[in-house]
Amino acid sequence: MSLDLGSRQRAMLAEMGLRIFEPLPHPGMDTPPEPARQAAGKPALSAGVVQPIQPAPREMAHEPVVSRAGIDLMEWDALEKAVASCRACQLCDGRRNTVFGVGDRHADWMIVGEAPGENEDLQGEPFVGQAGKLLDNMLKALGLDRHHKVYIANVLKCRPPGNRNPEPQEVAQCEPFLRRQVELLQPKIILAMGRFAIQSLLGSPEPIGKLRGRAHQYMGVPVVVTYHPAYLLRNLAEKSKAWADLCLALEVMRAQPVAPAR
Ligand code: SF4
Repeated sequence: MSLDLGSRQRAMLAEMGLRIFEPLPHPGMDTPPEPARQAAGKPALSAGVVQPIQPAPREMAHEPVVSRAGIDLMEWDALEKAVASCRACQLCDGRRNTVFGVGDRHADWMIVGEAPGENEDLQGEPFVGQAGKLLDNMLKALGLDRHHKVYIANVLKCRPPGNRNPEPQEVAQCEPFLRRQVELLQPKIILAMGRFAIQSLLGSPEPIGKLRGRAHQYMGVPVVVTYHPAYLLRNLAEKSKAWADLCLALEVMRAQPVAPAR
């Protein structure tokens, strides 16, 4: 496929260590807006849907305090508060912050990663640190940024201790939150980053290499898979594959029917 690139996007590709070998016309694309935090107003939980939750002592049992049916009815702010109070699995014991997600709640693009790492746990935001910077550069190459036109979330909202792989029961407990985020966002494309996120979303044990290059589905939304930015930082030769995955995602996204304005 061909992809129109502006000078800024070319610069971003250069930051990713990628070169464009064929001349491409100037796209006339809008300059990406400067990053800006979303307003943080949070209304109270919906009465009758969510039980008020008090901070729980560490010895409290790990059990869902909000039903799956309750989660399925939540709007954004109630959902974020439910995650912040969640004690449904053991990961709540070691977290410093829950990591709900960040970005444009009307975005066409959704990025899904695995779980918070140390920096994410500290800051309460997904994809920060060096891997986050690389993701930002990848998004800029597409004329996007993490606060506009993109929403970023993880499969798990709390950090696994020592960055270990998540346990199946932790994924099962946390998945309703991600499902509701997808339902509320209604993205045109999900870009799943990293083996764990991909296998969780697609329910497939296949390695990334066998799942790349075509669109999959999650809740009716097309899913394109690629490598996690942290992996790309350790394996620079794979960046060209990641760029090909971004181009495929853009192609799939553009092929989606135009939805009514939200
Ligand atoms: S990882 Fe998910 S299910 Fe487990 S405590 Fe955190 S928010 Fe709840």
